[in-house]
Amino acid sequence: MIEFRNVGKTYQPLFGSPVRAVEDFSLTIELGEVMGIAGPNGAGKSTLISMLLGYVLPTEGTVRIDGMEPRAYIERYGVGYLSELIAINPRWTVDGALARYAILAGVPEGEIQPRVDEVVERLGLDEHRRKKVKELSKGNLQRLGLAQALLRSEAVFILDEPTHGLDPVWTTKFRDIVEQLRRPDRAILIASHNLDELERLADRVAIIDRGQLQRVVDVRGAGGELALLGAGNAAGTYRLSVAAGAEVVPEVFPGARNLGRGEFVVEASDLAALNRGVAELIVRGTLLAGFAPVQSALEQQFREAIGEVT
Ligand code: ADP
Repeated sequence: MIEFRNVGKTYQPLFGSPVRAVEDFSLTIELGEVMGIAGPNGAGKSTLISMLLGYVLPTEGTVRIDGMEPRAYIERYGVGYLSELIAINPRWTVDGALARYAILAGVPEGEIQPRVDEVVERLGLDEHRRKKVKELSKGNLQRLGLAQALLRSEAVFILDEPTHGLDPVWTTKFRDIVEQLRRPDRAILIASHNLDELERLADRVAIIDRGQLQRVVDVRGAGGELALLGAGNAAGTYRLSVAAGAEVVPEVFPGARNLGRGEFVVEASDLAALNRGVAELIVRGTLLAGFAPVQSALEQQFREAIGEVT
């Protein structure tokens, strides 16, 4: 549905030297898929999104939505878009803003009010609908931005930092909203700094650094998180909780950090080594209450991909 093929973008500022923002970037996002995009600041995420929206043209390669130039596609079918910086006229009311966006999105006259009512309800904005945009808190403004993106039922959704400013309750609700958005005939792209969120929401996550695609992590791979760990280099840090036999832990894992109350942080060179260690602990009488990676699997892959040693 969405295809970046060998895409490059070099900005040529009026003064100073050219900036290579994206380089030889290829990625395909299929219908039915939720794709995450993660990368440090300056990695090129905004540039990629701008190219997908047709605001910025690539200097090399091609970007296509359903085989079309982004601008031509968007003019014809529209896309649901939540921008990182929500710029809605502060003097409009919530209701008024949504009605205007519905007109802009080409929602037929008779459907505008029902659609506005539906997104207001979905994003819990009912008590705010007569407020001016400038009176909204940051979290409510973000919800208005999301409501605006959901006004039409497009086949492509692009959400840039969608949970920015949302409180934990709405961050959780947002996950349900994305789950409801997921459809076999729709492609959803989510750019986020929050790896934990991408790990929960996305099927795959593209990790970008210095304008290049570093790796694509399949977060929904068979077997879930541990399959992911096994597929990559599972070297990492794990937290062990033991109910009895804590004294054995430093003997089996020499670098173990004792956090007290039976909690340890241990390093393992790979998943097999971790399992050997855990097996030895059990054989030697340790009663294990739990173990889990200190970093999520995605976070680990992210750090490896951007060259940060954990
Ligand atoms: P991200 O969204 O991942 O933070 P960006 O796409 O905004 O990354 O930026 C990628 C690189 O391109 C950065 O080095 C940034 O400074 C540069 N850049 C972005 N927009 C422009 C522009 N309009 N003119 C010149 N350089 C730019």
